[in-house]
Amino acid sequence: MARFVFITGGVVSSLGKGLASAALGALLQARGYSVRLRKLDPYLNVDPGTMSPFEHGEVFVTDDGAETDLDLGHYERFTGVAARKTDSISSGRIYSNVLEKERRGDYLGKTIQVIPHVTNEIKDFIAIGEDEVDFMLCEIGGTVGDIEGLPFFEAIRQFSLDKPAGQCVFMHLTLLPWIAASGELKTKPTQHSVKELRSIGLAPDVLVCRAEGPIPDKERAKLAMFCSVRPERVIAANDLKSIYEAPIAYHQNGLDQAVLDAFGISPAPRPDLSPWRDVVDAIHDPDGEVRIAIVGKYTQLEDAYKSISEALTHGGIANRVKVKVEWLDSEVFEHGDPAPNLEGFHGILVPGGFGERGTEGKINAARFARERKVPYLGICLGMQMAVIEAARNLAGIEKAGSEEFDHEAGATRFEPVVYHMKEWMDGSGRVETREAGDDKGGTMRLGAYRASLTPDSKVAAIYGTEQIEERHRHRYEVALTYREQLEAHGLRFSGMSPDGKLPEIMEIEDHPWFVGVQYHPELKSKPLDPHPLFRSFVRAAIEQSRLV
Ligand code: GLN
Repeated sequence: MARFVFITGGVVSSLGKGLASAALGALLQARGYSVRLRKLDPYLNVDPGTMSPFEHGEVFVTDDGAETDLDLGHYERFTGVAARKTDSISSGRIYSNVLEKERRGDYLGKTIQVIPHVTNEIKDFIAIGEDEVDFMLCEIGGTVGDIEGLPFFEAIRQFSLDKPAGQCVFMHLTLLPWIAASGELKTKPTQHSVKELRSIGLAPDVLVCRAEGPIPDKERAKLAMFCSVRPERVIAANDLKSIYEAPIAYHQNGLDQAVLDAFGISPAPRPDLSPWRDVVDAIHDPDGEVRIAIVGKYTQLEDAYKSISEALTHGGIANRVKVKVEWLDSEVFEHGDPAPNLEGFHGILVPGGFGERGTEGKINAARFARERKVPYLGICLGMQMAVIEAARNLAGIEKAGSEEFDHEAGATRFEPVVYHMKEWMDGSGRVETREAGDDKGGTMRLGAYRASLTPDSKVAAIYGTEQIEERHRHRYEVALTYREQLEAHGLRFSGMSPDGKLPEIMEIEDHPWFVGVQYHPELKSKPLDPHPLFRSFVRAAIEQSRLV
């Protein structure tokens, strides 16, 4: 049976709880343990699928098709463990499960209450798959004191009592603000946060404190005494140049030791951190730099494309170069020559997106990349835009466009080179269908699907295999009806769904590196295992940097 670590946060949000959880996962793995990480989010959305990337950052998609919080991306990047639907839960989902059971009569006429019905639902969720791993790490979103968070805090309190003693450890992440005028790190906000936690029956075993430097002995002793935590289990979390330093930095500050100690595991197996050392080394000591432009819509909030920027970093690690990313708003070159904005970049990436706004700028960017022979990676909408560009400017289909934009505008302005998918086959050969008026949540083609690659294509060489499985999140698809016409003009569909109905990958033949993919390769890239497409794209950018 797994041991459980519950990770909570206090004082302020955005302290890097997800990163601390992910790094702890990696450290436990480095000591030979198996782990799974889980996120419990108090907001009322059923899942983040319908939330704007401006509000919540990117939606991370799992193999089994769940639309989850971007913290699950951190978990996967640090541990390599593929997240599942059951690794992400929100209050919205919990309440909707409880209400569904109530309507079905499952509670046999009882009055439905937060305790025990909602808390039981949370506890059942936490326990899913507990026999599969050594450690289950559960991060509670938000900060202690949030009204929405209370049922989760209560559920983990009960959960730890339901388990044998010593099976659960509580780790609390807080902030030690630095007051420059007095030259002091202040412990009071942390004391208050722990007091708040204790008032709802939770006592932290390990305290992780974000601070600008090491925690001096005096402050450590104060924190230990007022928060009732052993001094050696007060761990400093300092700012890092790269998030991938986190496992080593946390190890040096004693995090994994403190957690194992809290479980009474002694002596603990020694960790092997050499793979992480290599990653940090490649980041700190690169042999050059490439400049990549990401041409998108949500460019004010970099978290909206979190996995893409991380995957580019991984591509840089694999090639030992620094990847300098610049975010360009595609609307800026909607109606003009994009050259002044795009010249000088060694690669252009057009990411996924929804809706028409900014798409003409993306089409212009794809044209620039194709004509100037600059490496281009189009992801999902970025592939669709590249196909539309080629249809218009190579194949002469002047009105080529996507049904997505016509639907949005309630008009028929385009020839639908990209159309609204109504059905497709899932991995087990079952046909999935969708209607235009369906619910917005969870109705896309979501999760991992296989694709077959053309044997002598560029992508088959990049992947080193002809069968791949990648994660999807889309409603529209390139129409097969135009295949011959497009292929006659230098475009090549080099990856298809196994039934041959859905184009998954396009390449431009007469180009050093121009690839569009209907799926999201960034979701599977990891620092210890960079994705082949990002590795190869950055390699192509290095070649390009030698030309310009
Ligand atoms: N909006 C497009 C679609 O639904 C692309 C989606 C995406 O880029 N994730 O097909």
